[in-house]
Amino acid sequence: MLLRSCYGYDSFRGQQWDIINHTLDGNDSIVLMPTGGGKSLCYQIPGLMSEEGFAIVISPLLALMNDQIDALQQNGVPALALNSEKTDTENRQTVDLLMQGKVKLLYISPEKLLSEIDRWSSAITDRICLFAVDEAHCISQWGHDFRPEYTQLGTLKQRYPDIPVMALTATADRITRDDIAKQLNIPEARLFISSFDRPNISLNVVQGSTGRQKFRQIVQFINLHRGESGIIYCLRRKDTEKMAAELTRLGIKAEPFHAGMSVSEKQRIQRDFINDDLKVVCATIAFGMGIDKSNVRYVIHSNMPRNIESYYQEIGRAGRDGLAADALLFYNYGDMVTLQQFAQQSGQVQVNMDKLRRMQQFAESGVCRRRILLNYFNERFDHDCHNCDVCDNPPERFDGTRLAQMALSAIMRTDQQAGMYTITDILRGWRKAEIIEKGYDRLKTFGVGHDLTVAEWNAYLLQMLQLGLFDVAYDEGNHLKITEFGSEVLYGRQSIQLNRFERRNLKRKQAAEPVQPVIEVEPTVPAKKMDKALFERLRDVRKALATASHIAPYMVFSDKSLQAMATEKPTTQAEFGILYGVGEVKCQKYWRPFTAAIRDYLATNN
Ligand code: ADP
Ligand code: ZN
Repeated sequence: MLLRSCYGYDSFRGQQWDIINHTLDGNDSIVLMPTGGGKSLCYQIPGLMSEEGFAIVISPLLALMNDQIDALQQNGVPALALNSEKTDTENRQTVDLLMQGKVKLLYISPEKLLSEIDRWSSAITDRICLFAVDEAHCISQWGHDFRPEYTQLGTLKQRYPDIPVMALTATADRITRDDIAKQLNIPEARLFISSFDRPNISLNVVQGSTGRQKFRQIVQFINLHRGESGIIYCLRRKDTEKMAAELTRLGIKAEPFHAGMSVSEKQRIQRDFINDDLKVVCATIAFGMGIDKSNVRYVIHSNMPRNIESYYQEIGRAGRDGLAADALLFYNYGDMVTLQQFAQQSGQVQVNMDKLRRMQQFAESGVCRRRILLNYFNERFDHDCHNCDVCDNPPERFDGTRLAQMALSAIMRTDQQAGMYTITDILRGWRKAEIIEKGYDRLKTFGVGHDLTVAEWNAYLLQMLQLGLFDVAYDEGNHLKITEFGSEVLYGRQSIQLNRFERRNLKRKQAAEPVQPVIEVEPTVPAKKMDKALFERLRDVRKALATASHIAPYMVFSDKSLQAMATEKPTTQAEFGILYGVGEVKCQKYWRPFTAAIRDYLATNN
């Protein structure tokens, strides 16, 4: 009921309903769900259902807080925040409203809560129906985002033993999870683990592309996604600037984002991105935390991330609305070298090298990529996903012994004093100054591999490295050193198999359409098709309405709701009110402009 009238959704997702019931019965819980899984609903509904009470939502990020409150207010929910950004008068007003029982959800930072709660009268504290601790991994020193101000939250359970606590996080590992229970003093908390699968995100990896070629592929990809929001992650600050400048020069408006920029500049970019005024952001990992934008349609990793946790978190920012989204990862040898160096210089060499190796295995995988990811997060996933590049295009295996012998012989003849790119140049027979200087052009192997492209050699050499034919001496100018296994292959005592390199055509799968489950019952009524032109028209209507009331377009309606409109073409309030994401308040507020635009469209296009 509440779900329909308030949010405009027809059913709960996954364990949402179980989690809510468990809380309504007064129990503690730990909720693990991937980004975009629908955590917010789990603590919002208990707050909304409580007659005179309210739920406290503890959150570390002010930006995220304000965002959620805006979205809730759009749905007519009385939600407010207490934080240091508000004036004293505003905060006092909020406390008054709490007293009167007029607030259903109170968002607050941990330090503010701990300093405020002592001052509240029992008229307020008696109304608290739930403590929801969002981003709960921040409490653990083992987590990747430790925040000291979280550690005091354990006192809440001691002082208010009867108020249920719900800890929520998208970090799945066991150590963090156990630490959360311990630190919050909720040893009996029930654990709700949702699948970490995000089936709507298509996983794609391009191997071996570097420099201009990679840039061209990125441009090609963005051109297929014109008008859609996307994030391009780069390793270094200067790369974000260069990428943004070059894209802009080609008429694709893009801006860089990194930790070295001023706070106001960063805020402006975030705001523009959220408001759909800026579609492409080229960013370091500094971007994304606290951005709750539901219609990011793609995430590109121009450089490989350091570990699978980061990768998963970053691609998770795409497709939070559940519609089709793309993740595209570029993987090449240069990045590997840089990342290995980072890992070697880090405090925890062993751990970081292991994590990097797992990331590399993902990038080079010959089996379904989603299987690797979910297995990494200890989740059983025993079928192919049919939404990754390996499933779409299973790699063809071939006997790569001859290619390996060419490469190994080149390495041998340089006295193992050359790096991977030099070996490629030798094999391809490139007479550049450096090669001639060292006399490599007189080697017997010079040019023997000229019929393969640079990209092909780069990709095959990577595979050979992964197979253990040679090692990279990171402490010795990254020169290649043949292993024992390598010499056996070189002298013909062993053979190897390689995956055929294919120039990937970055073709567009589908316009953002809901991803269908693999097995589906044949519909008896043929599904209606979405009208793309109408969708574009409605997108403009949405933008205008959002601008007029100074909110983000996706807060007016999600892409998914617009698609429902462009498919069902409602022309009356009643037809409009039953669509996905259209609750009572939004129906009242918006049915006129949208149905008017649809009627107008139908009049001119039928
Ligand atoms: P999280 O906080 O776990 O990252 P959110 O709570 O922001 O995820 O939810 C992600 C998206 O899914 C939001 O757009 C939300 O409105 C939508 N959503 C959540 N629950 C449902 C549901 N039961 N039915 C349809 N959409 C839902
Ligand atoms: Zn797959």
